[in-house]
Amino acid sequence: MKLSKDVKTKFSKLGISSHTELALLIPNSYEDYRLNDKLIEHKHQLIDATVESVFRAPNTIQITFFVHNFGHSITGVLFRPKPYMMHQFSVGSRDNYYGMIECKQGQCSIVMPKKISVVGDIVAKYKCGLRTDVMGRLIKKELTVEKLEEEGIPSNIAQTLLALHFANAEILEQDELDTKSLEALKFTELFSYMKLLKEKRRYFKPLLSVNADYTTWAKSLPFVLTEEQVKTIEDIQNDFIKDIASKRMIVGDVGSGKTMVILASAYMIGTAKSILMAPTTILAQQLYEEAVKFLPNLKVTLVTNKSKKADLSEYDFIIGTHALLYRELPSAALVMVDEQHRFGTKQRSVLEKLVSEGQHLKYSASEALNAESYKKPHFLQFSATPIPRTLAMIESAHIDVSLITTTPFTKDIDSKVIHKNDFKELVQHIKAEIKKNNQVLIVYPLVTQSEVLEYQSIEEARAYWEYNFDNVYVTHGKDKEKEQVLLDFREKGSVLISTTVVEVGISLPRLTTVVIVGAERLGLSTLHQLRGRVSRTGLKGYCYLYTNQSSSERLDKFVETKSGFDIANLDLKFRKSGDLLKGLSQSGNQFRWFDFAEDVKIVKEVKKSLLLE
Ligand code: ADP
Ligand code: MG
Repeated sequence: MKLSKDVKTKFSKLGISSHTELALLIPNSYEDYRLNDKLIEHKHQLIDATVESVFRAPNTIQITFFVHNFGHSITGVLFRPKPYMMHQFSVGSRDNYYGMIECKQGQCSIVMPKKISVVGDIVAKYKCGLRTDVMGRLIKKELTVEKLEEEGIPSNIAQTLLALHFANAEILEQDELDTKSLEALKFTELFSYMKLLKEKRRYFKPLLSVNADYTTWAKSLPFVLTEEQVKTIEDIQNDFIKDIASKRMIVGDVGSGKTMVILASAYMIGTAKSILMAPTTILAQQLYEEAVKFLPNLKVTLVTNKSKKADLSEYDFIIGTHALLYRELPSAALVMVDEQHRFGTKQRSVLEKLVSEGQHLKYSASEALNAESYKKPHFLQFSATPIPRTLAMIESAHIDVSLITTTPFTKDIDSKVIHKNDFKELVQHIKAEIKKNNQVLIVYPLVTQSEVLEYQSIEEARAYWEYNFDNVYVTHGKDKEKEQVLLDFREKGSVLISTTVVEVGISLPRLTTVVIVGAERLGLSTLHQLRGRVSRTGLKGYCYLYTNQSSSERLDKFVETKSGFDIANLDLKFRKSGDLLKGLSQSGNQFRWFDFAEDVKIVKEVKKSLLLE
């Protein structure tokens, strides 16, 4: 839409770029400039008055007004008057004044009266980047139902928004926004955000479109794929058919079986080549082994720092760590990134570019269909950080999202909040587990001692464990030997002491217990990731949240909640969603009206009106 220069300047002062955003800058308050013949206590009111006298004291001015609409006099009081305020009152002149009516012992006065030229209206007051009268005029001139409709806002919502700016008497009676207005604001806010996301998405031609079948492969597996694995694989299958390079994020809890989705995708692409990047050598190795096992007809290879620089072009499925980024890669129809949140955005896009062909240009959806010069691989990212369904739906405006919310086996993990006096019992439990040849992970908040934290660090605590238990292993995020320690622990360890950094990834099949020290300090999503490490092979698992806090509603709720997606919603409720938006567009938190935890219905409506469904 074309904006005049003047409007453009004003929009930029307000930090907005559309009429929709203008509509969202609703008034802070309203002033009622209608004359009333009754005096009402504790209310701002307009009077039609003649100044009878003005009396100045050091810190106040007192004015006697004869109020024509009341038919009697009242006193006006200005506290700490500024020089310009004085000029409003000259004895004998008749004007309109607006101020707060306050009464004491039957004596009423008008406090901080100010001269007003407009009479008879309800005037909206704005607190924004423009002076309220300038803003008022801009709104009057620019904000119309037609203009909002032009930007895609449904007319009933546009009307509701306009009513907030051009207020009537009814709105003055309300202390807070009515449901209808609130819903309209939520809708509009989300609409505006998702529309931008949608416009930002760029489309490319794929290197290859295929109509591939995965069912024969699925039948060859030793187990039946879960419903959501199938649904996700079919999402991807549909992507591959299209004449647009896919861009999809697959989100599923730890243990939800994302590897099978990776393998199905590589299977469908076949000899047109797939490349898969994983964050650690151990993970890459695990994925490689599974690929070799389940994709016997593909030539699979593993690329790490240690592997020889052989020619990769003869392989169908190249799996590796970020070492891939430094190798010459053949053009590949599919690029995948596992545990995507553990890579930087840069690393991810470099990989994608390495295997693209032609000149780098960006296209909108319609242009992409005609552009021949630039082709991209299909791009799939896998994440083990569950996000709330609402967020997934919002993100779908610029990236397709598949959620895997169930796991192949239901995990049997007991979660419990424990305190200092439960320690003895905890040690007994740990001893019993070790006797059963199971393993225990103990997570400490810090590596070295801290003055401020009331919990032990790894350094302080390790002596106790090493003295009382055999086969105790210690590692932490900055430990260069971390991967090796984990591998050794997997084979020979009983107790692993670490910080939270020992994230998802390497599977520890015998791990049945995790103890998280200072659990209240962590976001629920992080706690859930840590809990997800135990019981990965169906053994009975235990998660102990050790805290000095006597009670915590947040931890109590966590204990009851099993699904990562529900946890993500809880995290939102407790407003600790920082770590949950990582890797996504990160802007999800800037909403004033829209509520992630509550407003699924609104997302659906917005998606519909943006034709995203
Ligand atoms: P994720 O990568 O999502 O954390 P994995 O792909 O590593 O999870 O799967 C966890 C475990 O579940 C693996 O041992 C895998 O072989 C197994 N698995 C995957 N899908 C199924 C299924 N449909 N039925 C039974 N087991 C499955
Ligand atoms: Mg995985």
